[in-house]
Amino acid sequence: MRTILKILFLAAEAEPFVKVGGLADVAGSLPVALRNLPERFTQGVRLDVRLALPLHRTIRSEANTLRPLMEFDVTRRGGNIQAQVYETNLAGVPVYLIGGEPIFSANSVYSTDPSPDREKYTFFSLAALEMVRRMEWRPDILHANDWHTAPAIYALRSHQNDPILGHLRSVLTLHNLPYMGGEGTDALEAYGLNPAKDEALPGWARSQPLPLGLWAADAIVPVSPTYAREILTPEFGCGLDGFLRSRSNSITGILNGLDVTAWNPGTDTNLPEKFSVVNPSGRIANKKALQHHLVLPEDDRVPILAMIGRVDPQKGVDIALQALRQMLDQHWQFILLGSSDPALEEAARRLQVDYPERVRALIRFDAKLSRLIYGGADMFLMPSRYEPCGLAQMIAMRYGCVPVVHATGGLKDTVQEGKTGFLFQAAEVDSLMETLRRALPVYASPERWAHFQRSGMQTDFSWPRSAAQYGIIYRSLTSDKGFE
Ligand code: ADP
Repeated sequence: MRTILKILFLAAEAEPFVKVGGLADVAGSLPVALRNLPERFTQGVRLDVRLALPLHRTIRSEANTLRPLMEFDVTRRGGNIQAQVYETNLAGVPVYLIGGEPIFSANSVYSTDPSPDREKYTFFSLAALEMVRRMEWRPDILHANDWHTAPAIYALRSHQNDPILGHLRSVLTLHNLPYMGGEGTDALEAYGLNPAKDEALPGWARSQPLPLGLWAADAIVPVSPTYAREILTPEFGCGLDGFLRSRSNSITGILNGLDVTAWNPGTDTNLPEKFSVVNPSGRIANKKALQHHLVLPEDDRVPILAMIGRVDPQKGVDIALQALRQMLDQHWQFILLGSSDPALEEAARRLQVDYPERVRALIRFDAKLSRLIYGGADMFLMPSRYEPCGLAQMIAMRYGCVPVVHATGGLKDTVQEGKTGFLFQAAEVDSLMETLRRALPVYASPERWAHFQRSGMQTDFSWPRSAAQYGIIYRSLTSDKGFE
């Protein structure tokens, strides 16, 4: 029996190389967790996981430890495109950074115009497969994430007779169903990926990267058990619920874990005062430092409500802003950190203009400040309309910031009502207001509040349990190859 299972993990972003959202947290920590998973979790099989990422401009300009590995052409109608692969390392995980004109010409990881993104990520996906064909290291599993790398899985269907690629099994982790990569056969067809013909997929989906990946993948992993059930319903299925129900035997929800070393209030150097569940007093100094830094009234009795994340309708930012406008009779300060949707950004700025003594709308990405907010704010609001997993609420709990969340997807699976946080059943202004009116009196009772904080800080969000579930999927997909 073989004892090493080899996995190539593909993602658009990964900490610490480049981060836009939660995908980077996952892609930067799951491969490391899988590689270090004790063999008792994997029945003696070692998981040799390696990571492939696009060599985004920001990585290229900062990288000085990249080792050139190989160069080759990726076939494209109208002229092949050269790919360059560099090698580096992330906590023992070999990392392949793949560059080429479609990647180098982009200014950001994701653009608002879907067409260049499709070109860039189709190129990356196919370059990753070509790299595999040229390596001595032969993966058993191709593990892609979201629409960006789904074309690699779809392309495997046309390589079934390839002596190398034909043996690859595939896993597609689904972090966000509505982001499908957009219509338009432009990039896919240019790289030789024709629309699917299978009528199991609705017509409109047969040329979109994510549905094609979902169609071709051997295993589909939504990032929480609740989201795995939700996507089978018309409400959350984005028109693919019927197709996904037909694939339900291949779908397993696995909750994302958290890199608990990187997110640890006991060692976080961005906090003026470190703290822990046994020694929580440092939190007060962080709260004061946060208020001071943002020029808010420095009062440790007024609860700070916070949101950190993409300012997007998905995240229910509008719901929070409207609820707060109707709760001016209550004592609170509000801090929002994030950017994305211009209209929502403007609505957040307006709240600050109207209530400068209690609101800060910080429209930017700021990793350092996010840590001070997690470590100093009191409540973390996530009125998300849908939330495949959500990492921010887990980070908040680990930092003693009590989550107030809509009971959907991963929020439902990670926050315990009345113990680690507050849940509400509808992503609506009234529901959030009602829940805040329930939470604020608890905050006013320090002992009860400390109980919530302690329960959240003690919850185990670390990767091993979830990583082990991925290990089970990998083994089941390769059971014919000499693994158990
Ligand atoms: P998403 O749907 O965007 O993936 P998650 O809650 O899963 O949402 O993960 C978001 C991650 O990105 C968290 O680590 C959060 O702290 C971080 N983040 C989001 N927006 C910002 C920002 N403006 N500044 C700093 N960190 C941010």
